[in-house]
Amino acid sequence: MGIETSCDETAVALVDDTFSVRASFLTSQMERHAAYGGVVPELAAREHLVAILPLLEQVAGGAASLRKEVRAVAVTYGPGLVGALHVGIAAAKALAWAWDVPLLPVHHLAAHIYAARLEGPFHYPFLALLISGGHTELVLVEGPLAFRLLGATRDDAVGEAYDKVARLLGLPYPGGPEIDRLAQSGEARYSFPRVVLEGYAFSFSGLKTHVRHFLERAEAAGESPRPEDVAASFQAAVVDVLAEKTFRAVDETGVRELVVAGGVAANSALRRRFAREAEARGVRLRIPPPAYCTDNAAMVAALGVELLHAGITADLDLPARASLSLDGWPLSDPYLADRVRG
Ligand code: ATP
Ligand code: MG
Ligand code: FE
Repeated sequence: MGIETSCDETAVALVDDTFSVRASFLTSQMERHAAYGGVVPELAAREHLVAILPLLEQVAGGAASLRKEVRAVAVTYGPGLVGALHVGIAAAKALAWAWDVPLLPVHHLAAHIYAARLEGPFHYPFLALLISGGHTELVLVEGPLAFRLLGATRDDAVGEAYDKVARLLGLPYPGGPEIDRLAQSGEARYSFPRVVLEGYAFSFSGLKTHVRHFLERAEAAGESPRPEDVAASFQAAVVDVLAEKTFRAVDETGVRELVVAGGVAANSALRRRFAREAEARGVRLRIPPPAYCTDNAAMVAALGVELLHAGITADLDLPARASLSLDGWPLSDPYLADRVRG
């Protein structure tokens, strides 16, 4: 069983040891947060409390056999909103204790990568581009549970840039899907800056600021650029930078497989561009279906299967971690390192 409550999705899923999804349910609080233009941490925690038990009942489907079937309970313990994480962690601890099964400590970003495992085995080493609401990272995955961080954003995450630009355009939260949809009928007629930093680092706050200044100047001049065209131009700049950096990393590391994961991997323009570039290089591209790109619990359970195989478990003292690096995880987390050594 996988449980996810790190942000504004409450999710519970069942995945078997062949990585097949048996059940996957979620409730999104997006509408509750939309009025504030972003996720409100205290509200998120309270909403998780309301949602978690009905979801568990939904997954059980009235089956009394669930407790016999579930072999372990996996839960996201970071990174994320601490109050939100605690709700899922408390539920997972209670179930693991009551059912007398292992508790599995899941890293949310590793889980995003493991959404791709639901579609078939990984071929190591592979490169993962993780693009979500809070993170933008290039990760080299050298083997099962062997993560090496190559680079990350220095400022805004890609999803964050999407959400902020959407807000400038007066679109509702979350803005990513809105810009994706709007851009389809637009033309990328404005040339917005492509910030390509050295190495594998990213930066997206300059692009967001550029769009703001562009809109302010247009308004002052009495012009009204079509939102479709602004969305398409912004998206073209983002996809260009992500494609250039990622495929440079593919070439430099010589990997034959590329996984793109996280909410922004649901983006249609990005999926098309990456498919084209991967094909040109003969690289295997794996992007989870859109429903498994954004937060879900099937990805949490999938990583749980891997942790169970590796014998990496937690106890009832498992902490919630607001920040948790993927570099070298699981052993880079002192809590897990102590358990493995001890
Ligand atoms: P993190 O995983 O970093 O903790 P998160 O869990 O909030 O953050 P996800 O659920 O993985 O993030 O992704 C949400 C983000 O994905 C939002 O910023 C949203 O706007 C963006 N997003 C979702 N669909 C699309 C799309 N089609 N195009 C672009 N962005 C999208
Ligand atoms: Mg979310
Ligand atoms: Fe996420």
